[in-house]
This record gives sequence, structure tokens and C-alpha cells, in this order.
Amino acid sequence: MSESFVLEDARESASPARDEDRRVFIKSFGCQMNVYDAERMADIAAEEGYREAHAVEDADLIVLNTCHIRERASEKIYSELGKLRELKDERRRAGRGTTLVVAGCVAQAEGAEILRRQPAVDVVVGPQSYHRLPELVREARLRPGVVAADFPAEDKFAHLPISTPGAIRRRGVAAFVTVQEGCDKFCSFCVVPYTRGAEASRPVRAVVDEIARLASAGVREVTLLGQNVNAYHGLSEDGRGVGLAGLIRAAAAVPGIARVRYATSHPDDMSDDLIAAHRDVAALAPFLHLPVQSGSDRLLKAMNRRHRVADYLDIVARVRAARPDIAFSSDFIVGYPGETDADFEATLALVRAVAFASAYAFKYSARPGTPAAEAPGQIDAATKAQRLARLQVLIEAQLQAFNRATVGRRFEVLFEKPGRREGQVIGRSPYMQAVFADGPRSLIGVMAEVEIIGLEPHSLRGRVVSPAS
Ligand code: SAM
Ligand code: SF4
Repeated sequence: MSESFVLEDARESASPARDEDRRVFIKSFGCQMNVYDAERMADIAAEEGYREAHAVEDADLIVLNTCHIRERASEKIYSELGKLRELKDERRRAGRGTTLVVAGCVAQAEGAEILRRQPAVDVVVGPQSYHRLPELVREARLRPGVVAADFPAEDKFAHLPISTPGAIRRRGVAAFVTVQEGCDKFCSFCVVPYTRGAEASRPVRAVVDEIARLASAGVREVTLLGQNVNAYHGLSEDGRGVGLAGLIRAAAAVPGIARVRYATSHPDDMSDDLIAAHRDVAALAPFLHLPVQSGSDRLLKAMNRRHRVADYLDIVARVRAARPDIAFSSDFIVGYPGETDADFEATLALVRAVAFASAYAFKYSARPGTPAAEAPGQIDAATKAQRLARLQVLIEAQLQAFNRATVGRRFEVLFEKPGRREGQVIGRSPYMQAVFADGPRSLIGVMAEVEIIGLEPHSLRGRVVSPAS
């Protein structure tokens, strides 16, 4: 990737910044996979000589990395773009050119429609094509309004630059690594199979090499990411198929890696092997985000979820048997077409039965092109809002109860950054809780044994017992 982003601009009077002054600003919305993609786009820009802009006003290249999962997320992009058009005009009046890129799942789903709704956009690039950013930006300088929203046959990962040790260190000691993309499940409410395409897994060696590079720059925790990460089926160097359990074992064996997580999983792919990894791999955090969506079998069937409530409860029981200190989180959709009061009560019953450490609840949002958007029995906004509020009260009570139960316990906390007060550091418990404790900055990057001594509204107070590693 040696081409430069900046070419002589034949069309615009505003000139791009000199090479050494070029700045990029990337704003990411939505899921952890978008965070990972944004970091990789930052790597591409860095290789092209862009430095990070701390404010969007200073950026010559602006990338919005978008989310399409719910209507609100995708409509938000257009209001952002309206503001950016004004900024672009202002910068042009000041004699500075700006290239505006829309990346991510809205780009994939809406393509050229984005240009129609906001002509200030220069490039629209989907999640499978962002490795082509340099050439797309160059093309847009000559002819603005470039769209790359296909699913190219080439492997994006093979074309991405490697993150520099400096960039890795700036991002912190806990990192995301995308290992699987796309989804073949086609839940009837979900756009992911359309925006991210068919399921594909990266080879084991590519993932392990990336984790080793992260670890050698100070990363201690990796989260293996995929839209459906436990459907991972990568190839080993000798051509064998490896599932997520094998990949977790390989990741945990990388020198320097103290903790491994994975997200997001589908109940249908919770294999015996993966459950056994929760028992056998000490570095695998005892925390599992396992979306169930509903507690009603009737709705799960309508959602094309491929699992019933009893299957979910059975998985929870088997994972708990394998790893007794495990905690669960989940995703729920309320107000799915046809959801009755009884269906919703069944969801509350499932939440009570499992007792989650945390969970996310969403109002069903009709997404264009998905079967559920056309289904009869769409639920009115007031009912959705009321059900969401009730579910959130229950989830919050469970979260608080889980947090209270951790007081007096000892577990490993990976310290990630300085706290707000001098002499304080903040990290994460195995259960994703924020934990702060008194201690020197040298604890950052250390996995320490911490006793939980108190509760704050959104975090836990801890006392470092002993730095473990
Ligand atoms: N792959 C994961 C799974 O199998 O559940 C989830 C991926 S999705 C990015 C994250 C969450 O968004 C889902 O678990 C679901 O609860 C929610 N979601 C997806 N489509 C939605 C829709 N149309 N309306 C409301 N919430 C939605
Ligand atoms: Fe969407 Fe997850 Fe269902 Fe795939 S498994 S369609 S990503 S909700």
C-alpha cells in the first residue's frame, strides 16, 4: 500500500494539507467489531502519513464508521453528516480541503443512497472493502462520490497494514482481535447477514501472529471478536479445521497474554469443546455474553433463532458446571412483531431464572430488507417503551445484586489506566466491572489480585492484594 492519499486536486480550489500536516479523525459507532475496524483504518491512515487529529475540525480526512443495527443508530449518521458538511464548507472557505468518508454497515446497506442524501460525502466504503481506502480517497479527489460496497473476493485482512508498536501502546493493554466475520444465521430481525456477508474465519496462524504482535507491545488481554464468534472455523497451518475452543487455547498460550475473552456468541454454537475450554483454560475469563433475545419459544421460532428456552438454560447449566464462578450477560429484544404480554412475561421469567451479571435490552427496530420488518403484528411504540422499562428495571436490579455479591471477594483485575485521582488506577474485573484501587501507575498492564472493598454507582472499589503478573 504505497499510494498516497493526497494527489494533485484537479477539481477543488481548497488544497489538501502538506504531507507532514495531514490529520485523520475516525469516529466509530456501534459494536466492538467496528472499534476494531476503526483501529485498522487508523493503521491504514498512519501508513499513508496521517497523524491523529484530536478534534474533527483539524482533520483533512474524516471517517464515520457507522452502525446499521437499529434505525436510531443509522439515522444518527445523517445528522452527523449534516454537521460535517458545514465543517467541510468552513474549511474550504479557509482554503483547506476535507475528504469525508462513510464506512461501516450503513455504507454497506445504503451505498449510493448516502451520496444522494448527503452529497458532501466523498467516499462510501463497506466493512469488507476498507483496505482499499487509499485508492478510494485518491479516486474521490478526482471524482467525488466513490462507492465500494461489494463483497470482494480478496481477503481484506491480507491487505491490512500491521499496527505499529506505538499505536498498540496508545490503545492500551486490552485489545480486540476480529477472528470471524459475517453471519449465516439470518435471525429474522437482523441486518448483519446482509451488511457483513457470509461467515468467514481467519486462519489460526494469522490470528496468533496478530496476538503475538499485540502482546509484544504490552497487550495483556485480548477479546476474540466475531458477529458469531463461536461459529469460528479457521484453518491450522497443516490444513485442519480449528474451532473457537482451539483458537482460545492458542491465544492463551501466547507469551504475555494473561486473559482471553470472546464475543459475541450464538447459543446454537456453544459446543462441548468450547464449554470444556471454560473449565480448562485458566486465562479464559469466567464471563460469557450469550444473547438469547427472548424467553418465549414461540417468539424464538418466529425470530429464526434455532434454539429454545430449554436449550439456553441447559447451556447455562453446563457452562456453570464447567466453571462455577462464571457470570452471564445477554441481549434481549422487546416488542418483536406478535409479542404478547405472555411472551414478554416469559422473557422476564428467563431473566429471573438465569440471574445475569449484566444485559442489554433493545426495542425491536424494523430494518429494511429483513423478514421481520414485513411481519404482521408490529408492536406500538408505547408498549415497546413500557416493556423495555420493565425489563431494564429487572436487569439493573440483577446487576446491582451481582456487584454487591462481589464485595469481599478476591479476583484478578487487569489495570488499564490511571484513575481520576492521583495515586489511583482503574482496571476491569473478570466480569467486565470497572474496578479502581489505590496504587502506582506501574500497575497499569499488571494483572493483580484485588479484594473488592466497596461499591460505587458504576464501579467497584478494590484493594490490591498482590500483583499476580
Ligand atoms: N450475533 C449476536 C447474536 O447472535 O445475538 C448479536 C449481534 S447484534 C450486532 C447485537 C444485538 O443487537 C442482538 O443481540 C440483538 O439483541 C440486537 N438487535 C439486532 N437487530 C435488532 C433489531 N432489528 N432491533 C433491535 N435490536 C436488534
Ligand atoms: Fe444477527 Fe446474531 Fe442472528 Fe447473526 S446470529 S443474524 S448477527 S442476531
